[in-house]
Amino acid sequence: MDTDVLVVGAGPTGLMLANQLGRRGVRAMIIDRHAGPAVQTRALGVQARTLEIYAQLGIVDRALELGKRATGANLWTQGRPAARVPLGDIGRDLSPYPFLLILGQDDNERLLGEALRNWDMAVQWSTELVALTQDAYEVKATLKQADGTLREVTAAWVGGCDGARSAVRELSGIAFQGAPYEHVFFVADTQMTGPMVPDELNVYLWRQGFHLFFPMRGTDHWRLVGIVPAELRGKDDLTFDDVIPSVAQEAGSELSFRACTWFSTYRIHHRRAEHFRDRRCFLLGDAAHIHSPVGAQGMNTGLQDAYNLAWKLALVVSGRGGEALLGSYEDERIPVAQRLLRTTDRAFSLVVADNLLVGLFRTRVLAKVLASAMRTERIRKVAFRTISQIGIRYPDSWLSETLSGLPHNAPQAGDRFPWLRVKMAPNGATLDLFKELDDTKFNLIVIGQPSPAGGVPSLGDLLRIHAIPNDPANDSELARADIPQPSFYLLRPDGHVGLAGIGLDLGAVTRYVDERLRLGANRT
Ligand SMILES: Cc1cc2nc3c(=O)[nH]c(=O)nc-3n(C[C@H](O)[C@H](O)[C@H](O)COP(=O)(O)OP(=O)(O)OC[C@H]3O[C@@H](n4cnc5c(N)ncnc54)[C@H](O)[C@@H]3O)c2cc1C
Repeated sequence: MDTDVLVVGAGPTGLMLANQLGRRGVRAMIIDRHAGPAVQTRALGVQARTLEIYAQLGIVDRALELGKRATGANLWTQGRPAARVPLGDIGRDLSPYPFLLILGQDDNERLLGEALRNWDMAVQWSTELVALTQDAYEVKATLKQADGTLREVTAAWVGGCDGARSAVRELSGIAFQGAPYEHVFFVADTQMTGPMVPDELNVYLWRQGFHLFFPMRGTDHWRLVGIVPAELRGKDDLTFDDVIPSVAQEAGSELSFRACTWFSTYRIHHRRAEHFRDRRCFLLGDAAHIHSPVGAQGMNTGLQDAYNLAWKLALVVSGRGGEALLGSYEDERIPVAQRLLRTTDRAFSLVVADNLLVGLFRTRVLAKVLASAMRTERIRKVAFRTISQIGIRYPDSWLSETLSGLPHNAPQAGDRFPWLRVKMAPNGATLDLFKELDDTKFNLIVIGQPSPAGGVPSLGDLLRIHAIPNDPANDSELARADIPQPSFYLLRPDGHVGLAGIGLDLGAVTRYVDERLRLGANRT
């Protein structure tokens, strides 16, 4: 076997998968058909959950240094300021990163690419997957190299992170159901001045659509996104100069354009792969789901597909996990993609529909309703949980088990375990629990009761135990997160709760490991 895992595609999803496999000691090979890293920014929003994963990977400080925190969104209707939604610390107490970070996809890819060196890995550029066959034991992949020659490699598993036109998906015969939206969009990276509130998101809503101004690194740099005006739709050689009049009409004549470094038009699709797995091949990121860019979810969802799959693959490759574990990847991630397609589709229809009624709603009602709703703390929190992706849950997964007795409002199996700042010893320092967790292992959090002195034999060195003792400072923090005392939570390596209960029951933990994780069930 040439490699344990062949990762096809070195976009954000493939780079994340390769990193997560590399740091868990898996031999992975990552290839990309392009000659080098992408230079276009494409996605711009990095969500809190992604930053939490970046922290475990050791690249969050660099990402924060390079990016800009979104402090607010300014809504303009018919060219006039209508409302401002403060975003600065919208997720306070919910995440160590309670904001949206504006950092281009190219920078994200660079950081992820550099991190590969820590595991002695590098992308093999100019290497394209052109054919694929698999049997019960391995996958044979045919790769076309820079000089046009073909090479065959064998891999135990394949991660198809090869984007919307995924060869892995097509060669596996998996349908990509959905449709394109009717509108054509443009995206431009520009240098310009105008009435936009500097360093903040500016959304111009108008009867026929919208223009979005995203602040980028550097003075007066803005990413501009909009709908190509109907009269220009058929034009082949459309340039930024062609769309300037429609932008100026909405955002005001004071707009002054100095430069445009990237201009592209694209048609957005909403599609989902029928399955995310064909035996030894998996689909992740845009290869598995594409949708409108509303909410800055695309790149982030791909990164989290990779985080979900990597620990399971690593356990199976090392012979410690049963192959049944891998079935949970699509069981968990298909519902996430389905929900994402549904919500982004609804939101998108609202911002692009060009019928009179929706146009009036968009310009007269939407901004005011949104701004007033976001003044309510509860709604701000729900919005943050949803958009930041910390609210993603796998309650129906085979890997999620909540024991009886745990109150319904407490974190349940399948949830991302909440972020806490607690004392891990009576009179000790207050620590950031997320920094204590080791995401290459399972983490057992034992609250307000003795932790097991002998560990959990069935998990052995795959387990870290964290005891949170009774302490007045801990009481309020635990109450804030609705965590009862006593209780215990067994976290999977990706931070989601696998098993949860009140009194620590080692028999239940052992049964969970044997029956659900099936560790050691399939040693080869
Ligand atoms: C113009 C534009 C603007 C966007 N704006 C946003 C935004 O604001 N917010 C957001 O969240 N998302 C946005 N997106 C979407 C976002 O860019 C994607 O969700 C993200 O790139 C998905 O990452 P990925 O790694 O899954 O796929 P990709 O980034 O597409 O990477 C796939 C990689 O696979 C390689 N590849 C393909 N086929 C093969 C093969 N046969 N062999 C080897 N390699 C192969 C490709 O070269 C590529 O490098 C935008 C997309 C576009 C096009």
